Amino acid sequence: MSARVTVVGGGVIALLTAVECVLEGHKVTVVDQGPIPHSRATSFDQHRILRALHPADPGTTAAALRAHRRWVELEELFLTRFYEQVGALTVLPPAAAADGAAMLGNAGAARGS
Ligand SMILES: Cc1cc2nc3c(=O)[nH]c(=O)nc-3n(C[C@H](O)[C@H](O)[C@H](O)COP(=O)(O)OP(=O)(O)OC[C@H]3O[C@@H](n4cnc5c(N)ncnc54)[C@H](O)[C@@H]3O)c2cc1C
Repeated sequence: MSARVTVVGGGVIALLTAVECVLEGHKVTVVDQGPIPHSRATSFDQHRILRALHPADPGTTAAALRAHRRWVELEELFLTRFYEQVGALTVLPPAAAADGAAMLGNAGAARGS
């Protein structure tokens, strides 16, 4: 059944919620205190780190990798790029680096992601 949904706030979480609702067939209105993107939103600028590896936490590592894949799917859905992968450097002791690489591999990460 289609519902009418009002999402208050036009930050990244609200907009992703709105997208999910629209994909489920609901009619969505997003309201914000001003223009979207709003300069007072914490998601206003373009600098965020999506950290895949959470040492000793395979569940969170797998969830972060799913989030990464979901961003790429959203880009394909909207035929745009808003997720620019610029890379990040993590420094770990050799043993921890090997454990981290194994955990990422077990969680389904491709090399370089
Ligand atoms: C400096 C900084 C660095 C960060 N770095 C990272 C990072 O590297 N990785 C990461 O994952 N996360 C990071 N975060 C956290 C991340 O940015 C936030 O978790 C995320 O932006 C929250 O999004 P949101 O949609 O919940 O809120 P917001 O993006 O803040 O959106 C809230 C929206 O609600 C609107 N609003 C507020 N009050 C009202 C009202 N009364 N009526 C109508 N509209 C209203 C605002 O105008 C805004 O558009 C960082 C945050 C900060 C501040």
